[in-house]
Parts: sequence; C-alpha cells; structure tokens
Amino acid sequence: MIPYGRQSISQDDIEAVIAVLKSDFLTQGPAVPRFEDAISQYSGAKYSVTFNSATSALHAACLALDVKERDIVWTTPISFVASANCALYCGARIDFVDIDPHSYNMSVESLEKKLVIAARNGALPKVVIPVHMCGQSCDMQTISALAKLYGFRVIEDASHAVGGKYQNQYIGGCQYSDITIFSFHPVKIVTSGEGGAALTNNEYLDYQLRLYRSHGINKDATLFSREQDGLWHYEQVALGYNYRLSDIHAALGWSQLKRADRFVQIRHEIASFYDDKLGQMNIAIPRQTPDAYSSMHLYVIRLNADVENNICKRVYQGLLERGIGVAKHYIPIPLQPYYSSLGFSMSDYPQAHNYYRESLSLPIYPGLNRESQLKVVESLAELLD
Ligand SMILES: *Cc1c(COP(=O)(O)O)cnc(C)c1O
Repeated sequence: MIPYGRQSISQDDIEAVIAVLKSDFLTQGPAVPRFEDAISQYSGAKYSVTFNSATSALHAACLALDVKERDIVWTTPISFVASANCALYCGARIDFVDIDPHSYNMSVESLEKKLVIAARNGALPKVVIPVHMCGQSCDMQTISALAKLYGFRVIEDASHAVGGKYQNQYIGGCQYSDITIFSFHPVKIVTSGEGGAALTNNEYLDYQLRLYRSHGINKDATLFSREQDGLWHYEQVALGYNYRLSDIHAALGWSQLKRADRFVQIRHEIASFYDDKLGQMNIAIPRQTPDAYSSMHLYVIRLNADVENNICKRVYQGLLERGIGVAKHYIPIPLQPYYSSLGFSMSDYPQAHNYYRESLSLPIYPGLNRESQLKVVESLAELLD
C-alpha cells in the first residue's frame, strides 16, 4: 500500500533520539531549547515555543492573544478541525470565511466582504486564522492590511507549510502575523513524532505562550508578584496546561529540521512529475500563486464533478483498490456533525462546497519513488478512461 504521506527517518535522526535516551533529561532538558533555537534560525522568527502538538500550540496562541468568551475568531472551512477547535476551547465563537477557488486558501475578497458586514453589525473578529493550505502561503500582505484596518490579530496556521516561502522569505518569520503555528506530525514536512511550535517576534507573546504551555507557572524571579518565601518560589499566574514537548521528541524534530529544504525540494520534483502527466488528462492540477513557494505538503487534484457527479467517490475507491492511499483534505469543518449542530451550513461557503465535491490528495512524500509515482498516474488514467 502506498500511503498519501509518510515520514523519512535517517540514521542521524535515530542517533539523535538515542543520545537523549542516554542523557540526564528526557524532558525539560537541553534538547527543547536547542530545537527552538533551530526553528527560529530556520524561519527567521525571533521566538519559537515548542508544544506537544500544533493543536496545543493553536490553543495557547489563542490564549496568548486573550481570546475568551464572547470573542469571535474566523478561519477557513477547508482545514483540519484543529484550526477552528482552538477558538472553542477558549469559549469564543467561531466563523468561517470561504476559500479562493484557485489557491484553496481563505479568500481575501470574501474576508473583506465579511469584515464590512461585521463592522456594521459590531461583530468583528478578535483573531483571524488563515491556513496555508497544502503548504502554499495565503495572501498575507492583504490579510495583514485588513488586520490593521479592522483591528484583529492574525495567527497563521502553517501546519502544512514548514519550508515554504512567501515573498522570498521562509514562512514562520511572522512578517504579517502575530503568531505562526507549525505542526511536526509524521505526515507533515518534518516530524518530531507528535509536536508543534508557535513562532512570534513579540516578547510578550513569547512569555504568554510559555506560560500557557506549562501550567501558567512563572519561574522568572524578575516577574514575581510576591516576596519569595525561599529559593523554591514559583508562581502560577494563569490557568495553563501541560503542553510541553519532551526532549526525545525535540531531538527528532531538531535532526529532521536540518533536512527541511531537501524534503521540500523532493516534494517539488514529485509535484512536477505529476503536473506533467496529469496536465495531459482532464485533471486540474495545483496552481501556484506568484508570491508563494509551496512546501508541497499536499498534492490536491480536482476532478470535474459536473461531468460525473460521484467522480471523487469512484476514483477514491478505485485508487484504494489498486493499493494507492489517496486522501481527502478535508471534509469541510462546518460539515462536521459537531459544527452543523452549532448551526453552520455549507450553503454559506459555495467555493468550499465545490472544492469538497472535486478534490482528492495524491500520495506525496520524500520516500515516494518514481515507480510508485507512475503507478499513481497510470491508475488515474485507467479510472478516468
Ligand atoms: C495537522 C494539522 C493541525 C494539527 O496538527 P497536530 O500537530 O496534529 O496537532 C492543525 N492544523 C492543520 C491545518 C493541520 O494540517
């Protein structure tokens, strides 16, 4: 079976993990700050805070930006559920902005229209969470301009986009956002097993993120609010969590990050091969936007559902029967039973609705060899004949 995504583990990765196992610390040791420094250096963000998942990082990012009850958060309907759940964890309300039909990212035109209406109704969002779908950056410059105009904060969900670039800069530098989130789940660009990170250039947000990561406990004596009873003194000042990454995971992530550029390069080579072959069939291949260099986390094709209504269902099944792990990214969040029970309906997101009818993700990962790539292409040709 060819999976749609898979990690690539080297001997160096294995040795980095073993070194931690033989060391004094399995958690809260030196491997975490080493990984955080490497992430900052790689992405250009001043501060990087690792978490045990991107989901925890998204939650902490919302808390750091003071998202609470009665606040409103907007994201895209085409993402993993975690992009929206983080707002609900804080007791806030969530809403969705329809996607652009070419990049599959949050549409900045739809965002602007929705902001105009929200301003009129006194219901502007506190935070907007654009998601760099498939690893291709959103139109961050426009989103950032709208953020200044309408007074909201921005969390980039860059779970797909480690190693991607926007305007020739690595995603994660937070030029146009308050916080950027990375995921290190094994299907993503680089992995720590489970893990994530929140990146920022803002010292206060860095402090807040660290606070929420570790029980809301501050150990920095310069910030104590009370006189110390003794050298053991520490203060819980907020209701935080244990969202820490272990040193074992951090060592794997650190070792993997060294190969991020190489991983992205190989993904581009696979994408070019697919582009070339599938472009000759009646299949819409991913479109690259001019300012963005995608990490190519996902290779999403679109099949013409106007010609054949259930085409995705048939092709998905056909590929599975041929041993090809095709995937669907994603079932739109508002369509999930939990979200429809909150009153969301897909009729409010026509572009996301069409995308869902037509999209499939083909296997793409550094270890996918040419033979397997050819098998994917030939299987698709057979099924669409
Ligand atoms: C994978 C993913 C997440 C969650 O990442 P975890 O590290 O598994 O918690 C969040 N948002 C998006 C867009 C993702 O793809």
